[in-house]
Amino acid sequence: MIVGGGIAGISAAVEAAEAGCGVLLVERAPYLGGRVAQMHQYFPKLCPPLCGLEINLRRFRDNNRLSVVTLAEVTEVFEHESHLRVKVRQQPRYVGDQCSACGKCIEVCPNQRNDLFNFGLGSTRAIYLPHAAAVPSRCVIDKKHCSGASCSKCKNVCERHAIELEMSPNEFDIDVQSLIWTTGWQPYDAHKLNELAYGSHPDIITNMMMERIASPLGPTLGKIRCPSDGREPKTIAFVQCAGSRDDAHQSYCSAVCCMATAKQVNYVRSVLPECKISVHYIDRRAQGNGERFLSKAESESNVRYVNGKVGRVSIDSGHPVVVYEDIGKTTLISETVDLVVLATGITPSSCSSFNADVARRTADGFLSDTQASPRQFVAGCAKRPMDVASSVRDATCTVACALARFKQGATMDSTRNIQ
Ligand SMILES: Cc1cc2nc3c(=O)[nH]c(=O)nc-3n(C[C@H](O)[C@H](O)[C@H](O)COP(=O)(O)OP(=O)(O)OC[C@H]3O[C@@H](n4cnc5c(N)ncnc54)[C@H](O)[C@@H]3O)c2cc1C
Repeated sequence: MIVGGGIAGISAAVEAAEAGCGVLLVERAPYLGGRVAQMHQYFPKLCPPLCGLEINLRRFRDNNRLSVVTLAEVTEVFEHESHLRVKVRQQPRYVGDQCSACGKCIEVCPNQRNDLFNFGLGSTRAIYLPHAAAVPSRCVIDKKHCSGASCSKCKNVCERHAIELEMSPNEFDIDVQSLIWTTGWQPYDAHKLNELAYGSHPDIITNMMMERIASPLGPTLGKIRCPSDGREPKTIAFVQCAGSRDDAHQSYCSAVCCMATAKQVNYVRSVLPECKISVHYIDRRAQGNGERFLSKAESESNVRYVNGKVGRVSIDSGHPVVVYEDIGKTTLISETVDLVVLATGITPSSCSSFNADVARRTADGFLSDTQASPRQFVAGCAKRPMDVASSVRDATCTVACALARFKQGATMDSTRNIQ
């Protein structure tokens, strides 16, 4: 069993199935792909992430050893000597697999909800397709915003009779040999960064919101615009380490934000070459061959990397003002900008529904498999912040170790923690 259908979970599922195992992938969201599905481009190659996902999903579809349940979570794990018994709870989608995502139900739905896939930049109807390239390509109903049977407009318009407003949760037990947690990460909650004024002005956004704004499938169809009034930003300040490497928030480095910002600088430059960009950083950190990638972003015209911390973001005359130090000048500087992008880091996903003793956590809150049962493993960003290439490598190594351990019999000795 693999829990979490992001890039790490999909990779683990495909590798295990291709090695001959039966695999059940359990995903909490109504679609597969995790955070990668929300991104515009991958660093370092700057290709569309949906393309990389699609390659894996094709391997997925071609393999009849693999099954997936979406909208599902593991609620309990029972240890037995020869196997694990796992309890899974699947929330109702209210839309059956006859759905062809034709969108007629969406057109007639009278109710709106916040578009969570786009981090609240826009809204969807109560019945919606999670995103344009969602897998499975099937609508889902947000019951909190649905008027139910008294409305039934979606049900009446659906020619395939796919809408089932009375669907209820489904619970089942399954016995598995091994379980790999690939539950990934969530963005650090920018509301906790009081000094950076997130939430007080629509033009103070996070780096993940920037991914959605830049995406051609996103709320602005890929046009970089200020959320407040839709104008092109003429100045953008990127605030690095927003909540990372800070004992008041997360003391660790999120490992990917410097590269992610360099990527975002690159695509802002490609569509708005006149836009003046400043990147405020404490240290620049790159994994692997990333140093060249960072240097390239830094050397672009109209781009300024400023070494020093942003102490405050405030609002003056309706515009964000960034107050920062520039270590080279030993002064505090205030600058009014059109758009502020907070590079919020990686926080471990919450897995509140499963028995906390089953998968233990590190001091930083990530899942740790070193003390857990020998049949349970952790891979990808559930373990620590890492980029996509590292997540895929880690998932593959983890499957190899699970297979080796399963064949040789379970042992508590773990030498598996390979990146
Ligand atoms: C702003 C930003 C930009 C980035 N850009 C890049 C880039 O360009 N290139 C790059 O290499 N890396 C990039 N990264 C890093 C990249 O996002 C991660 O490497 C990648 O998402 C890790 O994949 P994962 O599968 O481990 O986790 P995730 O993508 O988080 O997937 C985890 C999955 O598990 C599911 N899940 C969570 N909890 C449960 C549960 N309890 N039960 C069932 N399912 C659950 C989630 O719904 C999700 O589908 C970026 C990161 C940030 C912050």
